[in-house]
Amino acid sequence: MPRYKTVEQILALMKDRTRVRNIGIIAHVDHGKTTTSDQLLASAGIISPKVAGEALALDYLKVEQQRGITVKAANVSLYHEVDNKGYVINLIDTPGHVDFSGRVTRSLRVLDGSIVVVDSVEGVMTQTETVLRQSLEERVRPILFINKVDRLVKELKLGPQEMMQKLLGIIREVNNMIDMYAEPDFKERWKINPNAGNVVFGSAKDKWGFSVPMSQKKGIGMKDVIAAYTAPDKTKLNELAQQVPIDEALLDAVIRFVPDPVEAQKYRIPKIWKGDLDNELAKAMLSADMNGPVVMMITDMKVDPHAGLVATGRVFSGTVRPGQEVWLVNAKTPQRTLQVSLYMGQTRELAEEIPAGNIAAVLGLDKARSGETLLDVRFKDLQGSFERLHYVSEPVVTIA
Ligand code: GDP
Repeated sequence: MPRYKTVEQILALMKDRTRVRNIGIIAHVDHGKTTTSDQLLASAGIISPKVAGEALALDYLKVEQQRGITVKAANVSLYHEVDNKGYVINLIDTPGHVDFSGRVTRSLRVLDGSIVVVDSVEGVMTQTETVLRQSLEERVRPILFINKVDRLVKELKLGPQEMMQKLLGIIREVNNMIDMYAEPDFKERWKINPNAGNVVFGSAKDKWGFSVPMSQKKGIGMKDVIAAYTAPDKTKLNELAQQVPIDEALLDAVIRFVPDPVEAQKYRIPKIWKGDLDNELAKAMLSADMNGPVVMMITDMKVDPHAGLVATGRVFSGTVRPGQEVWLVNAKTPQRTLQVSLYMGQTRELAEEIPAGNIAAVLGLDKARSGETLLDVRFKDLQGSFERLHYVSEPVVTIA
């Protein structure tokens, strides 16, 4: 699979937008969110800049892996192919747990799809319910990853039939929640359906996973999983990871089931934009118009030892370029963008422009904080943002 792409090739995909997906991973604590994202990063997360040759690409890979150990990136872009078509999948970091500041909700705001990770033995837990509910409330489409399937064999010693029963029970529970929390328009369309392929069964730790369609196509099933874990050595388990790699299973499902930004923004903007929907700005966002006025939501501000403060976020309309004057809605101040870059794997590479529907990293916005909304400065009087300034709901104490 040609994983090594140039900045120009990735930018061409970003402009196509049918080839872009914006996703995050959400889970109850300990169900495997970190292990799952590490697997995606290790196996599919390397997009090499400026190099076409395999040898150069491998050198780059080494450098990137070394850097990856010290700098754990909040956002990564993955390259994956389905039916010989290439896609850019932006994996955006969501906080590990829900806190009182609504931070999970804030990062969900820039996603169109979520991978909900559930431990096969523990099943749906309280935080699974919380993060799934928040995802549905933001109109972020969930797909399901039932992780730690090895435990069903090694700890519970279940046979293939009993395993399927247990897994179907989890799917039923997730669907009950979708029934409870999704809005009427999305309830039926967004239910998890194993036969369609929007649930992956696997083990992030052992690097294998499959959906029902993938299992049929490759002729691998639960009997092979049981054989791998009851074998005297790891040969069969390693084979399983080769035959049905977890990154392929998850990224295939993401590409097939998570909507592209143009489709998603039609129904997401009315939900997440706190402002008038009838002006030029909102209309450009509703159609993810890359020629419209710039609107971007910042989800993350980080200090880069070489570059200074890096603002990362999603461009909802227009095209972000260096040297643009933008208005910071919360800070109530104009600022000028300096450098603009895109994530290539875990590192950033300079870009001349990042169009609507994508994730951009921008320098020069030192007055921004995460949660900030950037607008084309000409529209600063339109009064809209992705997050009201007093968004944080704090308990109100009244003294009688
Ligand atoms: P997080 O809290 O959701 O980020 O969970 P982690 O990814 O840190 O995983 C929690 C624990 O579960 C760690 O000890 C992992 O090694 C373990 N774990 C992750 N994936 C699997 C798996 O597929 N099978 C088993 N048995 N353990 C796993």
